[in-house]
Amino acid sequence: MRCLAERVLVIGLGLIGGSLASALRTRGICRTVIGYDRDSDELEAGLRLGIIEEAATDLLAAAAGADVIVLAVPVKAIETVLAEILPVLRPDTILTDVGSVKGNVVRSATGLFGYVPRRFIPGHPIAGSEKSGVAAADATLFEHHKVIITPLPQSDPDAVTLIARMWQSVGAQVLQMDVDRHDEVLAATSHLPHLLAFSLVDTLAQEQDCNDIFRYAAGGFRDFTRVAASDPTMWHDIGLANKQAILQKIDEFTSGVDRLRKAIETDDSVAMLGIFTRAKAAREHFS
Ligand code: NAD
Repeated sequence: MRCLAERVLVIGLGLIGGSLASALRTRGICRTVIGYDRDSDELEAGLRLGIIEEAATDLLAAAAGADVIVLAVPVKAIETVLAEILPVLRPDTILTDVGSVKGNVVRSATGLFGYVPRRFIPGHPIAGSEKSGVAAADATLFEHHKVIITPLPQSDPDAVTLIARMWQSVGAQVLQMDVDRHDEVLAATSHLPHLLAFSLVDTLAQEQDCNDIFRYAAGGFRDFTRVAASDPTMWHDIGLANKQAILQKIDEFTSGVDRLRKAIETDDSVAMLGIFTRAKAAREHFS
């Protein structure tokens, strides 16, 4: 694999940042992979596990020397880190992020720079798990997964190409999408299911005999609620950052549940079977 960049700095060495750093290193896609994390234990673990070649302790010096910077911190911290590195960013440095929401990242960049820099290409890997931290990093995490990048009309085409090639070279399929469309689609396919899982488990956990309920939970319950073990702070940030799109999807979902409730209450088998049959056909079509 030809070297895509000399020095890639990954800021936030958790599950996603650590997995990307590890994949870039394993496949020799850039000359040096440098990690930075505000948690020194994560940084040291990254070095010890061979996920990064260099651990940066001075964020500004590392950012000033990087050709590509990947922001892999929680959604809310992206603006904080952007503000920190802003004074030392070189005009030729290519910047990207991995945040699960894109509208807020674009708004943060606009607020800080006055515009979205031409070489800042927002991105979002559609891969991950309920685990967090560098110990869960996996160099194969992005293989056969999609990564959505959301360039803007003014984005530098060379920067778009480099970020797309970076993800392709770690095994991902890269798609381009408009920022608002990304946030609408992800609210439906990722954010709503996570929030429903949290809400279901929380509701059941408050029942008096919840230990009994969970003891008898079978595969369906485990499948449906696996993501309720995800990091609460991460999902707090996503919930607020994509508020409008998520509220809209919660309202649509609530109407759907109301329709199902009414069908059950009134013994309306036609309506019930209609809902289940349409859902089964749709699920089989896309899986
Ligand atoms: P994580 O908790 O595993 O890692 C985040 C890391 O960022 C931590 O090591 C933390 O110490 C560090 N960090 C936090 N604030 C920082 C700051 N101000 N400066 C430097 N380091 C800081 O989280 P993750 O799952 O890797 O998620 C990272 C990003 O990836 C988030 O924006 C998330 O929305 C996105 N994402 C996550 C998944 C997933 O399934 N986990 C999937 C796609 C995208």
